[in-house]
Amino acid sequence: MEREFIRNFSIIAHIDHGKSTLADQLLLQSGAITQRDFKDQMLDDLDIERDRGITVKAHAVALRYEYEGQTYELNLIDTPGHVDFHYEVSRSLAACEGALLLVDAFQGVQAQTVANAYAAIEVDLEIIPVVNKIDLPVTRVEEVLDEVETVLGLDATQALRVSAKTGVGVETVFKAIIERIPHPSGHSTSPLQALIFDSKYDSFRGVIIYIRLVEGQIAKGDKIRFMRTGGVQEVIEVGQFIPKLTSCESLGAGQVGYIITGVKKLEDVKVGDTVTHEHRKAEKALPGYREPKQMVFCGMYPIEATDFEKLRDELGKMSLNDASFSFQPETSDALGFGFRCGFLGMLHMEIIQQRLEHESNIDLIQTAPNVTYELLLRGGQVMMLDNPQDVPDAGSIEEFREPIAKVNFIVPTSNIGVLMQMCEERRGNYINTEYLGPDRAQVIYELPLAEIIYDMHDRLKSATRGYGTMDYEVTGYKTANLVKMDVLVKSVQVDALATIVHRDVAEKRGRGLVKRLKDEISKHQFEIPLQAAIGGKIIARETISALRKNVTAKCYGGDITRKRKLWAKQKEGKKRLKQFGQVEIPQKAFLSVLEAG
Ligand code: GDP
Ligand code: MG
Repeated sequence: MEREFIRNFSIIAHIDHGKSTLADQLLLQSGAITQRDFKDQMLDDLDIERDRGITVKAHAVALRYEYEGQTYELNLIDTPGHVDFHYEVSRSLAACEGALLLVDAFQGVQAQTVANAYAAIEVDLEIIPVVNKIDLPVTRVEEVLDEVETVLGLDATQALRVSAKTGVGVETVFKAIIERIPHPSGHSTSPLQALIFDSKYDSFRGVIIYIRLVEGQIAKGDKIRFMRTGGVQEVIEVGQFIPKLTSCESLGAGQVGYIITGVKKLEDVKVGDTVTHEHRKAEKALPGYREPKQMVFCGMYPIEATDFEKLRDELGKMSLNDASFSFQPETSDALGFGFRCGFLGMLHMEIIQQRLEHESNIDLIQTAPNVTYELLLRGGQVMMLDNPQDVPDAGSIEEFREPIAKVNFIVPTSNIGVLMQMCEERRGNYINTEYLGPDRAQVIYELPLAEIIYDMHDRLKSATRGYGTMDYEVTGYKTANLVKMDVLVKSVQVDALATIVHRDVAEKRGRGLVKRLKDEISKHQFEIPLQAAIGGKIIARETISALRKNVTAKCYGGDITRKRKLWAKQKEGKKRLKQFGQVEIPQKAFLSVLEAG
């Protein structure tokens, strides 16, 4: 395919604004799939993505489209919409010349619309604003266009109006892609430079490497070199996704597709690396990517110690499919042998957790997630810390630093007050407010990541009756007055319940935590004192009183089915209990820390 007839583009949008629906519609109208085998959301092929209606991994599809007597190759690179996967958005954009910026005709510009549009502007893409869902009974098309102009500085007169659901206006999308997005600029005769923008593990074929050719061409049998990692491989297969894997002889400059090589493990391919020929090397590698950073960690422990090896296998499988997830063995006095797992964010954590539950049969105890801290020690060393249990003696810490994020909120103007109060309570630092129109505003705050990730999104939703949206980006680390808070159950420290808190709110958090623990841990035959402590000093306490009689005594005289139900309920509850000394601590107790604010 000659480069004049190639267009490479992405669809960017706030979550739920219709990206997947539009992608499906483009596939359908270009004939890549037929109505008959049209399956909702073709591009979201992970089960979990379909379950939750979110796109996690970037995908690429080559469409053939006939326009004014000429066949064009339109490469659609799908992007994830959630904040945890920001880095994958920029990856995908680097492989494109243009982007469709999709905005819901009623909801208008939202937090991720802004973040994604800025990411596209940063890499100089041609942006085509598209107002979607014009079929809705109530729309605000004109206001939405105003927002696109004021907030994003894009020319709204050039915006398209479509319904991805009904297909109305979708032919104007094809026309705009062909007429407005520049064709790629490389030459097939130059030395090969291909950008790896994604990779995927396939249990039959091994590692599938997604590439965008910038210069040169690549064919089956070529000997290639990964410029950054230095690995040399032979190309076993070259092809495109149309939309299924379809092999071809070669790919030329400007094209998007995949290669399969002898690489067996996902971790041996660096996304962002450049592929060149071993015998005719490119002079330099293409600009790479920022490495994705794991910002959230938690412990995962099998309830049955004998499941440890099985859990290791399952986690290994997960990381084969997802290089941004990591795990390593750790031990806890309270929980025994388990793993410390690292994630990009809370959603990423939930996804992996859900998959573990779906795909394996292991009962797990998960400890409360925490962010990564940076410590400057007295000796001048800097230490990264991802487990509250590892906090050294207060005396040896010079500075305790936590990750800080710039958070961009879009809320109805009537909610600005509540939002600001919420941010102030979370140690926020106000940056500015910008009005999108008479009723909506963008408010920017700097907040500690730890204060955002657990429940900020939920609180924002409830404070704004669902109208507020947010997006954030970690900008660096800042020193804060942080301390480790220990928890003692029946006078014994339970390491897996330790957390890191800000000194100013430690008492309040401590009181909240022991109170919640009291609710979560059921009564035993004896009294259980619960205490929160900082550096050995008790700051909060509660006591679980002793159980007087057997629970079934409650059903005295009652019928047996009722008793059976109660026993069954107790048995189910047991599945997720961990015996700690004489005390049984349920899974939910380990997450109490999150709600103790
Ligand atoms: P994504 O999160 O951006 O991928 O959004 P989806 O494509 O999953 O769409 C989110 C929801 O909006 C789904 O329920 C779609 O059926 C619906 N939707 C998408 N496009 C349209 C449209 O043009 N009109 C209407 N009425 N609903 C749409
Ligand atoms: Mg989607």
